[in-house]
Amino acid sequence: MNKPVSKIREAKLELYRKKGKIHAREVRGRFNTARWAMVWLTQIIFYGACWLEWGGRQAILFDIPHEKFYLFGLVLWPQDALLAAIALILAATGLFLVTALAGRLFCGFACPQTVYTAIFMWVEARVEGDHLARLKLDQGPPTLRKLALRATKHALWGLIAAWTAITFVGYFTPIRELLPAVAGWNLGPWEAFWLLFYGLFTYVQAGFAREAVCQHMCPYSRFQGVMFDSATRTVSYDSARGEPRKGGGDCIDCGICVQVCPVGIDIRDGLQYPCINCGLCVDACDEVMGRVNKPVGLIRFASENELAGVPRKSGRPRLAVYAGLIGAFVALGAWTVTQRSLLLVDVLRDRGSLAREAADGRIENAYTLKLANLAEEARDFDIEVSGLPGIELIGPQRFAGEPGGIRTVQVTVAAPAGSVPPGARPIRFHISAHQDPATRVTESSTFVFP
Ligand code: SF4
Ligand code: SF4
Repeated sequence: MNKPVSKIREAKLELYRKKGKIHAREVRGRFNTARWAMVWLTQIIFYGACWLEWGGRQAILFDIPHEKFYLFGLVLWPQDALLAAIALILAATGLFLVTALAGRLFCGFACPQTVYTAIFMWVEARVEGDHLARLKLDQGPPTLRKLALRATKHALWGLIAAWTAITFVGYFTPIRELLPAVAGWNLGPWEAFWLLFYGLFTYVQAGFAREAVCQHMCPYSRFQGVMFDSATRTVSYDSARGEPRKGGGDCIDCGICVQVCPVGIDIRDGLQYPCINCGLCVDACDEVMGRVNKPVGLIRFASENELAGVPRKSGRPRLAVYAGLIGAFVALGAWTVTQRSLLLVDVLRDRGSLAREAADGRIENAYTLKLANLAEEARDFDIEVSGLPGIELIGPQRFAGEPGGIRTVQVTVAAPAGSVPPGARPIRFHISAHQDPATRVTESSTFVFP
């Protein structure tokens, strides 16, 4: 016999748990203070750094049209992609190290999703009131007051999202040029697209998606478990001390730890992947413990070992591996920065005219040299050639290079006929900066004797 439709629906695997909007209760405490300290720190850097000047230009700028990245005195080119790779590896390894030490600390305190959600929730609480007032407003009928409060909240969210988008784009188009362009809506298609996209992205992610991003969109929440071990300290409920609730255990089952949770979980159910380790339930429970004259720490940062009473072991190989990798990549990055040359040279032999005999009987070959002056100042480059007896450059041997420019020059090289058997012979071009002989590049090529 066929099952009724309602039964079939109940039996379906629930891939996405729908629940109402979370109205988290505000809480005071050391983790909340630390969280807001991180909000201030990250946002002062993000909103402020694009206004810093260095040597007459924006200090931090991704200049995509000219393929440069300015980082204060350092100018990086596409050729410096290795440094970008090292920076990414360092960021990932640092994240792994922090996760192995204390779980999703980054998620709870520094992830942009968490930071902007905290800012948007703060605005919401100032406009609509505390968690109970917001819940009542949500469930209440549409009134003029509700409309006014909602309009105010969304207008403020929109302003924050717009300023965030302008700041973000200001790292790619100098912010002092971008602002007048935004004011006059005189934007290029690239700027207009990213301003709209990033503004909407911030508004939707922090205003509406919130904890759903951490639970259903962020891949990191899914694989962070592989970095955990039994000594990783995460926000945990000490069930040995807390249970049985309201009957001998320290937990009075007040539920405040659940009310303050921004992702709407009950930490007393054990470690759960949506938990972002923000510590707000620790603050809430510590306050409750204070009120009932019990020691704080019923919910605390604790490892599986600590909760099970296993003595702490000294030394954790995975921490040593992560720390070792960080040390090695910092050293590699520093070495790469100090060794990078501010002159790049490309030598192409003129394939149209292989070789010709000059009036004086010598053999001449023509070459095209591309000189990329990666320095921020104009420099002259001296060119020499070696590798064959009597080989020399004909014509000018010094060429001016514009700051950050690529100069293409044609040169002719001559060598005495009969000095070596016919065929292609290896030669070398030596290019050095006239004002800075330490900047010297050697490139190989061939010289053809007919
Ligand atoms: S806040 Fe503390 S006492 Fe209250 S329910 Fe949570 S764990 Fe129990
Ligand atoms: S369970 Fe506690 S630490 Fe985890 S997200 Fe909720 S409030 Fe933050």
